[in-house]
Amino acid sequence: MRDRIDRIAAERTISAEDLRALLETQDASATEYLAARARETAQRVYGRQVYVRGLIEFTNYCKNDCYYCGIRRGNPNAERYRLTEEQIFDCCRSGYALGFRTFVLQGGEDAYYTDERICGLVSAIKKNHPDCAVTLSIGEKSRESYQAYFDAGADRYLLRHETADEAHYGKLHPPELSLSNRKRCLWDLKEIGYQTGCGFMVGSPGQTVETLYEDLRFILALSPAMVGIGPFIPQKDTPFGKEAPGTLAQTLRLLSIIRLLLPHVLLPATTALGTIHPQGREQGILAGANVVMPNLSPVTVREKYKLYDNKICTGDEAAECRNCLNGRMERIGYEIVTDRGDCKMPET
Ligand code: SAH
Repeated sequence: MRDRIDRIAAERTISAEDLRALLETQDASATEYLAARARETAQRVYGRQVYVRGLIEFTNYCKNDCYYCGIRRGNPNAERYRLTEEQIFDCCRSGYALGFRTFVLQGGEDAYYTDERICGLVSAIKKNHPDCAVTLSIGEKSRESYQAYFDAGADRYLLRHETADEAHYGKLHPPELSLSNRKRCLWDLKEIGYQTGCGFMVGSPGQTVETLYEDLRFILALSPAMVGIGPFIPQKDTPFGKEAPGTLAQTLRLLSIIRLLLPHVLLPATTALGTIHPQGREQGILAGANVVMPNLSPVTVREKYKLYDNKICTGDEAAECRNCLNGRMERIGYEIVTDRGDCKMPET
């Protein structure tokens, strides 16, 4: 197994057979070796520095009806909210004082937030904080819209592809959503010049080694600056409310594999990972992740941005989250840095 792992690291490619072996092995020393190689790889590029992103969940209105997601339009129990511009600027101001140099605006696909409003928000944040990066994560848009946000100053865009397998995509989404459009969006984003992030949930219903293999092939083809992966966690008011969650072990293995395939990629240890295990984010960093994304949203709305159940940190102010994560990273020998945290990928 070590040879296999060394070969994946050296060649930066993976076969379906390699992937199956790594995901199904019962040999704890092989998994440890995988994590150790991934950790070394991350340290070679980023040292023991962890980048931090301030996540601002600015609207949970959504026109889409993804079967896994708690803010899907068909969930009548989701209490809808939208932050005002002033609230968003306040989040950035307090985040800046806490050392955040990237703000991630994430939300459902909310028609209230027209292109004009998004561009206004982005340019105002860039004007208030010229040394910060702005990341958008607001779903599928036209190329023209993406270009407009970019021209307004947006630096990065997160759009998980969710699964690169057509049939699996159809099991996770209603018929009006398509994998081809999702991919079109990602290629447009990359061409426009964003640091682009794709990604998927680990353990989503219907996921198999084969669909994961498609995910890795797609990721290698896109060569994104960021890859967001975290465990699927059921949300009780969705069609997948009674499905089993993804596991810590599989998420860690996939983080490590992605790190070996893309040594420079920005790879978050997600809140979902912290939700399924109290030390999930620390273990994610030790498996090759190099980013954490604590919440900067006002505490009054935290509980309402419920993509999945039991989400952590919904009661903590931004400062508490920041301190808590500082401590968590220090205890494993890492340090959160005050930095935009751009991708060090040579080709981006
Ligand atoms: N509307 C934006 C943001 C979506 S929410 C977009 O379309 O990109 C961000 C991510 O949360 C999603 O891409 C999805 O991968 C993840 N997510 C949604 N529901 C989830 C669940 N039940 N468990 C774990 N992750 C989930």
